[in-house]
Amino acid sequence: MHVDRDVFKSALDAIIILDSRGLITEINPSAVKLFKKGKAKIVGRALSEFIDGNLQKNRGEVSPKGRGETLQYTKVRSTGKRGILYFFRDISDLKLEMQRREHFLSIAGHELKSPLATIKAINYLMLRRSSIQKDDFLKEQIQKVNSKADTLIRLIAELLDITKIRHKRLELTLEKVSFNKILKSVIDDFEKINKTHRVEVHNKTNVSLKLDKARIEQVILNLLKNAAKYSPGKDAIFINVEKSKKYLKCEIIDFGLGIPPEQIGKIFNLYYRLPGRERTFDGLGVGLFIASEIVKAHGGKMKVKSALNRGSQFIFYLPLTTKLNRVRYSLTV
Ligand code: ADP
Repeated sequence: MHVDRDVFKSALDAIIILDSRGLITEINPSAVKLFKKGKAKIVGRALSEFIDGNLQKNRGEVSPKGRGETLQYTKVRSTGKRGILYFFRDISDLKLEMQRREHFLSIAGHELKSPLATIKAINYLMLRRSSIQKDDFLKEQIQKVNSKADTLIRLIAELLDITKIRHKRLELTLEKVSFNKILKSVIDDFEKINKTHRVEVHNKTNVSLKLDKARIEQVILNLLKNAAKYSPGKDAIFINVEKSKKYLKCEIIDFGLGIPPEQIGKIFNLYYRLPGRERTFDGLGVGLFIASEIVKAHGGKMKVKSALNRGSQFIFYLPLTTKLNRVRYSLTV
């Protein structure tokens, strides 16, 4: 395999080249440093002697044999498959930093929650007093504070959800519930906060599923809020529910801005927001990521179809049968 000599020697990444039998033929100075072994002790041997973990995929994480560091690797096959080149990078510090950041987010989230609970409680008392005193102006102001507090509570809950998903600790409490009841309750909630769009439901199903009620409500509400937010000037949102052999299919359809085809693949990524629209619409780019992870945790999947300036269709599928009662799902992120 041909690699430019100067690049090979000066690269910050450790580079190891294997021949067609899988034996190491060359290593660069960064690899000597990373594996803490002289070139003579490495060349001619199998890479697996120096690595803990699986190197089968084209990208992944492994450790140096018997050590705790995390190495990210990339595998490149030479044309004609006569040799393989591996790049290794030590990402231990980066991982630690990410863990610290997420730990901070989780602590900060919990710390922010308790003063907000106090604000809500005091608000409730003031709201009652304003009603008794028939002070409409005061009542209106308190309701505004209340709604802002609710927004903050929701944002904090989303931040905490991200930490849970990342740490594979999203817990689902499954119970058998009528999907139509869930749908009705979400639409009632949505209609309280949304005055611009009516929701039209097309549904001939009547199934009960084992699912986490609060979490699936969160998914539907999120899709409805997005449908309204990203279809300004329109007044309708459709919901279609259908049953197939194995899945319940729920579509939330809007007639709004749509999503350009080149962006559609990124829409479920964490923190992703469509470029050019971030300033016009509030948001953090986390709702769809959380919603699709919740659906996946139920053994389902979420999809999107869209046409620019014509509207979007968010579709999620939930399995009709789940055998488990109360499960701690492990999620892949
Ligand atoms: P947020 O709405 O807070 O930005 P989401 O994760 O819910 O975050 O959505 C990610 C992005 O996907 C949004 O910023 C928006 O650009 C796009 N998007 C989501 N739902 C729709 C929709 N119904 N129509 C058009 N674009 C949408």
